[in-house]
Amino acid sequence: MGGLFGVAAKTDCVSDLFYGTDYHSHLGTRRGGMAVKNTDGFIRFIHNIENTQFRSKFETDITKMYGPSGIGIISDYEDQPLLIRSKLGDFAIVTVGVIKNAAELTDQLFRQDSHHFAEMIGGEINPTELVAALISRQPTFEDGIRSVQESIEGSCSLLLLTDQGIYAARDRLGRTPVILGKKEGAMAATLETCAFPNLDYSIEHFLGPGEIVFFDADGYEQRVPPGDRLQICSFLWVYYGYPASSYEGINVETVRYRCGATLARKDDTLIDLVAGIPDSGTGHGLGYAGESGIAFQRPFVKYTPTWPRSFMPQDQRIRDMVAKMKLIPVRELIQGQRLLFCEDSIVRGTQLQDTIQRLLESGAQEVHMRPACPPLVYSCKFLNFSRSRSEMDLAARKAIRKLEREDPGDLSRFADPDSSEYHDMVQAIAQRLNLTTLKYQRLDDLVEAIGLPKERVCTFCWDGAE
Ligand code: SF4
Repeated sequence: MGGLFGVAAKTDCVSDLFYGTDYHSHLGTRRGGMAVKNTDGFIRFIHNIENTQFRSKFETDITKMYGPSGIGIISDYEDQPLLIRSKLGDFAIVTVGVIKNAAELTDQLFRQDSHHFAEMIGGEINPTELVAALISRQPTFEDGIRSVQESIEGSCSLLLLTDQGIYAARDRLGRTPVILGKKEGAMAATLETCAFPNLDYSIEHFLGPGEIVFFDADGYEQRVPPGDRLQICSFLWVYYGYPASSYEGINVETVRYRCGATLARKDDTLIDLVAGIPDSGTGHGLGYAGESGIAFQRPFVKYTPTWPRSFMPQDQRIRDMVAKMKLIPVRELIQGQRLLFCEDSIVRGTQLQDTIQRLLESGAQEVHMRPACPPLVYSCKFLNFSRSRSEMDLAARKAIRKLEREDPGDLSRFADPDSSEYHDMVQAIAQRLNLTTLKYQRLDDLVEAIGLPKERVCTFCWDGAE
């Protein structure tokens, strides 16, 4: 996925940029980067953050950075920010999203311009470099950003730092959010609004889908108005958005409470306590407990002093090991109990399977699971959220494969919660995970909990709707 943050200030921006970018650390695990512009040019640092947090890696760098405007990135894939010298002028750029037709766009550039790219590890082109190349071919930055939004398949939100200020652009269908904030003497752009309160920014403007703005320390100008069609990622509210953030003016944590409350209203299972799989299952669990009147407890506690991150390393074996190490069971709360867990979602289910096994080994009488969203039947093709995962690894797809053995053909019957195929699929997942019961949130209930009309949110993961 990834997250971005940019600041234009009347004085030095580095402290705000550093902390604002750091508040996106839950969105990516591979690279962190910051670039600032001052009268001498750009200063930029990029680091691998796979094993060390962003703040530790950049602590020394920020003593060498100075300037009134800058952009930062937490990237789940490529090195960023990139510094570009072009006919439009020098600029720095960061992007969030995924370009599905990168090969085709690259070929087009080769044919038209005899262009060349710097190579990435593994021979792939840096997607942000491709975006920069597409922008630089146009007569203005606005035209360039618009041409990126029109030509790419996938999504691309970006910040582009120039001599005069910063362009902020939200992807064409608004799958990822971009929000402007303001305080005395500075403006900022962010993906996560949780970056604002402690840096004293208040929300100034939620960019609409495809909207392009230009801002400096004094304010912002709309350069391209938003389009009509919005397809914001609903998974932001369910799973990977930070609880203190809001998108389209709707706070993440309150949506999670509503998700949990809806699950509780439709449930009459007899249980002793409600819990959440940390971290994002906690909000859903609190919502369930509040509605049902059954106590919320923590039969698993997370060892936050050294395992604070919610996303994990790329290597699956290390991910599984980290997942195990950071959750410590509290046997006194588990033994002989009928436990109900709320979970944000079941993606592959491998870590969850291990977690449930540990609960049973610790003496749990029953383990009930209530994911806050429906089964994931399709993998995301609009963000690089699940880049490393194959669609066939999804828990739902594994269950379908087990049931059907051969090509299941049209998957829509497995996405319909009233179909017998859906019921069989959920039973197969419950059996594999060794759960006493498993009930997923219905998609209409999830959409209602978010509070936007169905046609304004992306629900592709669950129903394949585009
Ligand atoms: S497919 Fe899923 S993860 Fe991807 S943008 Fe849509 S809702 Fe979000």
